[in-house]
Amino acid sequence: MSPQHFSDWSPTSWQQHPAAQQPQYPDAKALSDAIERLRQLPPLVTSWEVDALRAHLARAQQGDGFVLQGGDCAESFADCRPEIITNRLKVLLQMSLVLVHGLRSRVVRIGRFAGQYAKPRSAETETRDGITLPSYRGDLVNAPEFSASARTPDPQRLLEGHARSAMTINFVRGLVDGGFADLHHPEYWDLDWVQHSPLAAEYQQMVDALGDSVRFMETLAGRPIGEFSRVEFFTSHEALLLWYEQAQTRRVPRKEGWYNLSTHFPWIGMRTAELGGAHVEYCRGIRNPIGVKVGPSMTAEWLCELCRVLNPDHEPGRLTLIHRMGADRIGTHLPALIEAVRRAGHRVLWICDPMHGNTISTPSGLKTRPFEKILSEVEQAFVIHRACGSRLGGVHLELTGEDVTECTGGARNLSPADLERAYRSTVDPRLNYEQALELAMKIVKLAA
Ligand code: PEP
Ligand code: MN
Repeated sequence: MSPQHFSDWSPTSWQQHPAAQQPQYPDAKALSDAIERLRQLPPLVTSWEVDALRAHLARAQQGDGFVLQGGDCAESFADCRPEIITNRLKVLLQMSLVLVHGLRSRVVRIGRFAGQYAKPRSAETETRDGITLPSYRGDLVNAPEFSASARTPDPQRLLEGHARSAMTINFVRGLVDGGFADLHHPEYWDLDWVQHSPLAAEYQQMVDALGDSVRFMETLAGRPIGEFSRVEFFTSHEALLLWYEQAQTRRVPRKEGWYNLSTHFPWIGMRTAELGGAHVEYCRGIRNPIGVKVGPSMTAEWLCELCRVLNPDHEPGRLTLIHRMGADRIGTHLPALIEAVRRAGHRVLWICDPMHGNTISTPSGLKTRPFEKILSEVEQAFVIHRACGSRLGGVHLELTGEDVTECTGGARNLSPADLERAYRSTVDPRLNYEQALELAMKIVKLAA
C-alpha cells in the first residue's frame, strides 16, 4: 500500500464524516483529556503480530486455513476475571482442536475479546416509566443500570477499557506462551462439566487421535515439533467507538503507514458500514486486516464499492467479508454478492457469522437463537460457496465458556423455558460451551 493513497487520510480524518453510533459526551474537555492520555499509553498489540495475522488470513483466502473467530457479544468490565477468560480460551482451544483434526487444516484463532466493549444500539435513548435516558452502549461508554449517572457517557471508561483489555491480553498471552495451549496437554482445557456432556466421548476420541499424530510426527522427526504443538491467538473487536480507535492508531518505526494497535483485527459492524461514513473512512487508512459485516440489506454495488475503498491495491489478507444473513435469507441474498465481488475482481476471505441473522424473541421476551438455525446457516454457507466456485474460509461466533442457557436447541435440546435457568447475557445470546463444541464437530462434517 503506497502512502500517496492516503495523503487525504489521518487518524482523525473520520471526524469530517458522518459518524453513526457515537455517544454524546457532555464534557468535551474531559473527552479530549482522556483521548490524550490514551494516546500516550503503550499499545495492546504489536505491528509484527498484525502483519502475521494478515499473512495467515492471506493464506486462508487462498484455501489454506480456516478462521475461528469467537467470543462474547460484548465483554463487560466485571467479567475481566481469570475464570471467565480461561473458560473462554478453553472453549476456543477445544473447538480449534476439533477443527484442526477434522478439517486437516490450519486454524487461525481470533478471539472476540480484549476490547469488545462498545455496542451499536437501535435507539439513541431508552424510556422507562416516563423517564428517558441515553441507551447503554457498552462498558467502554456507560453503565447498564437505568439511572442518569450510569447512562451518562464517561470518557474515563476509555482508559478503563484499555486497562481491562491489557489485563485480558496479558493473561491470554501468558497462558498461551506458558504452555497452557500446548497440543500435548489438551486436558488443561477441560472444563469442569465436560465429563457430563453427551459429546464427551466423541471429543475425547479426537483428542487421543490428535495426540497420537503429534507423537508420531515427533518420533519421525526425532524432536518436539514446535510448529504443531504451539498455537497462536489473535484479538478482534468491532471498531465502533472511533475516539478509542483513533487514540490507539500509531506509526511504527521502519514500517509504512498507520496501525491500530488496540487489536489485531478490527471489524466494521453492519450498522456502520455506509460508504462515506466515518467508520469506513477510519478503517481504510490503517494497515490492519479489516473485517466487514455483510447483512441482508447490503447491495452488490455497495459491497463492491466497500471492497474498492478498503482494499484498493488488492492486498491478500486485507479484507474479510463476514456474512450474517440468517438461515432463511442466506440462500436468496448471498450468491449474488459472491458473484458480484468476484466479477469486480476483488479477492477477499469469506467467513460466516451464523448468529446475528438468527436472533428471535421468546414469548417471555428473552432474545434467543435456535441452534438449528445457526447450524443451518453454516451448512448453507458451505453449499453456496461451493456452488459459486468460492470457499467458506471460517466462522464468526458468539460464545462463552460458561454454562449459560441463552440459545435454544443443541445436544441437550434446550427449550425456551430452559433459558430462564442461566441467562446471563445483557446483549446477544451466546452459544454455551457444549453448543459451541457441538457446532465445531458439525462444521467438520459439513466441510467434508
Ligand atoms: C455483533 O457482532 O455483535 C454485531 C452487532 O453484529 P452486526 O454488526 O453484524 O449486527
Ligand atoms: Mn452481537
